[in-house]
Amino acid sequence: MKISILSRGDELSTQILETFTEQATSLGMTVDDESPEFVISIGGDGTMLHAFHKYIDRLEDIAFIGIHTGHLGFYADWQVDEVGQLLQLLREINEPGEEKKKVKYPLVQVDVTVAGVTTRHLALNECTLRGLDTTMVAEIHMNDELFEMFRGDGVCVSTPSGSTAYNRSLGGALLHPTLEAIQIAEMASINNRVYRTIGSPVVLPKHHHCDIYPRARQNMSVTIDHLQYRYDDVESIRVQVSDVKVRFARLRPFPYWKRVREAFIGHDVH
Ligand code: NAD
Repeated sequence: MKISILSRGDELSTQILETFTEQATSLGMTVDDESPEFVISIGGDGTMLHAFHKYIDRLEDIAFIGIHTGHLGFYADWQVDEVGQLLQLLREINEPGEEKKKVKYPLVQVDVTVAGVTTRHLALNECTLRGLDTTMVAEIHMNDELFEMFRGDGVCVSTPSGSTAYNRSLGGALLHPTLEAIQIAEMASINNRVYRTIGSPVVLPKHHHCDIYPRARQNMSVTIDHLQYRYDDVESIRVQVSDVKVRFARLRPFPYWKRVREAFIGHDVH
């Protein structure tokens, strides 16, 4: 079994990386950063975003696993004191019939067209589009028909697994991460007697697409997870559910709604 291990770089994460590597190699696993079958991210959700983008061209061949060295993460759900158990379960995953222990989550495909050239990105959490100097003004089309003229800070287009991240801060709904959908949430839209947007988050199914046409010559920021790009001449941005999915090794049950509760509500429910 070929594995690659990434750490956030803090003292505890580095220490866990060393312990994990030592125990994994003693169990016969090989560290292979070029073509791993499993990528173990040690740190937090941010570390997983880095791991995802590092291996973005090999998503179909990799299953990710996250160990958290801070608070419980959505992608980093193994605790430091569970490393031994994790390694034992990982050893068994390639046995026949164990393929079901990998879950697949949909991603947002983002096609940014600048000066006639289209660049494709994939986001694990979300893509955001914002005006940098002024209000963002953009036509929003759904399946090739004008839907609204947006004026405001920007829009956030999230995956279901990213719905608990930036999208949640914008009042978006939490979607179960296996749903094949994307969610568009507004950032501070201007709504008055002259300007009107839908005002609520919108969820699009697979095979629907949304095109955003910013008004010409706007200074814009496009983020793909933690990565930021700046443009002053975006022609269009198309967002849709990608055909490519990300895989996570699901070595033990950890129901999504339990994780949501632990992250946002806590145990003291009265
Ligand atoms: P980071 O690693 O500090 O992450 C910021 C916070 O977002 C952390 O608490 C992290 O645990 C949490 N997070 C990340 N993915 C999550 C998910 N899928 N579900 C629940 N929580 C999640 O910062 P970074 O490395 O720059 O990470 C970029 C991410 O930060 C973006 O993808 C975005 O989702 C998030 N973010 C959130 C806000 C906001 O909520 N206002 C603003 C900017 C960025």
